[in-house]
Amino acid sequence: MAARRPDLRRRAQAQRADALARDLVRSRRVVTRRDGVRMEVDGRWLLDFCGNDYLGLAQQFQVVDAVQDAAARDGIGGISSHLVCGHRVAHEALEREVADWLEVPRALVFGSGYAANLAVQQALLGEGDTSVQDRLNHASLIDGARLAGCRLRRYPHGDAEGALRQLRTVPDGAAMLATDGVFSMDGDVAPLRQLALVARVQSALLYVDDAHGVGVLGPGGRGSVAEARLGVDEVPLQLVTLGKALGGYGAVVAGDVDLVEHLAGNARPYIYTTALPPPQAAAALAAVKLARREHWRREKLAALVQRFRDGMATRGFDLPDSATPIQPVPCGDNARALDMAARLEADGFRVAAIRPPTVPEGRARLRVTLCAAHGEDQVDALVHALARARDHADAARAA
Ligand SMILES: *Cc1c(COP(=O)(O)O)cnc(C)c1O
Repeated sequence: MAARRPDLRRRAQAQRADALARDLVRSRRVVTRRDGVRMEVDGRWLLDFCGNDYLGLAQQFQVVDAVQDAAARDGIGGISSHLVCGHRVAHEALEREVADWLEVPRALVFGSGYAANLAVQQALLGEGDTSVQDRLNHASLIDGARLAGCRLRRYPHGDAEGALRQLRTVPDGAAMLATDGVFSMDGDVAPLRQLALVARVQSALLYVDDAHGVGVLGPGGRGSVAEARLGVDEVPLQLVTLGKALGGYGAVVAGDVDLVEHLAGNARPYIYTTALPPPQAAAALAAVKLARREHWRREKLAALVQRFRDGMATRGFDLPDSATPIQPVPCGDNARALDMAARLEADGFRVAAIRPPTVPEGRARLRVTLCAAHGEDQVDALVHALARARDHADAARAA
């Protein structure tokens, strides 16, 4: 007789039907072409306000050239893991460049930020240890604690005293205090100086995931850690992702020599995976050099952020505090976020509606992101369209 277990296909069907009923199903749209901040979707050109290419480097010609040159010379594949024969000169150069940029002794390339967040915790924490995290940390940080098999304790968003309280409840075992530098869905910056103090008094290792800060914030674009005037003594490890402000793909963990070497020798998501394609490493190297040198990109971006916020305030929007290119427009329920995103699209703008579980229940939003390649007129037009979309959603509700 066959065992009576839940049928996985049927369970998936039921879950999808439930998600459909709650406006939670996400669709993937095919982008057929991309040209600067414009993208073609379903045969229409839309202005992109939803990517994370904050500095406009994803299509920058020197970055694209670097990919083509490296591919022509070295081929496209990493061909094995770093510890076998996949560690190439492009990876080595990128690691040196990032370490030099962030003024830390060592750096290590990973296939993605997701893998790096798994790696850092899995390699350093185990049973009996604790990962203490901000409630709004990126999903990959949460998953890292799971892979490590350590305890996970979460504190209220941005609350350093909450972090201290959580650390006090687990006085035994090693501890990591992990936070996003810039929160990916809210755009606000973690209270890093206070967290550094907490980490010090609690002998915890402070790990900052600066996926959205590096390139954008701080002197020379060195990120939220440098902006908080902290260094490798206070933040022994930090994460740089190559897929956001640097326009490519992959990640680098930078920091203390002993810790980084330990990752290279022990992190499963580093050891048991193929090395990042060398052309991607070459692209990232070119992008880092541009991000370090071309301050105008950050200056222009900051001016656009201010222009967007001023324009939104003038039209009666009360935006949450964020001085970064991530500008959430709160909507509340999922249907309203989807309705406003659809209106914006009809007006020629692509803005992402973000729903649970990416954000907490009841906190659906439009996540507007700005890019150094946007023009002032484009930002003004978006503000105008957002006001129209809101008025329409309000009218629909009143009716
Ligand atoms: C995007 C992101 C990651 C994952 O990085 P990938 O390189 O895209 O895998 C990790 N942390 C944060 C905060 C992110 O926004």
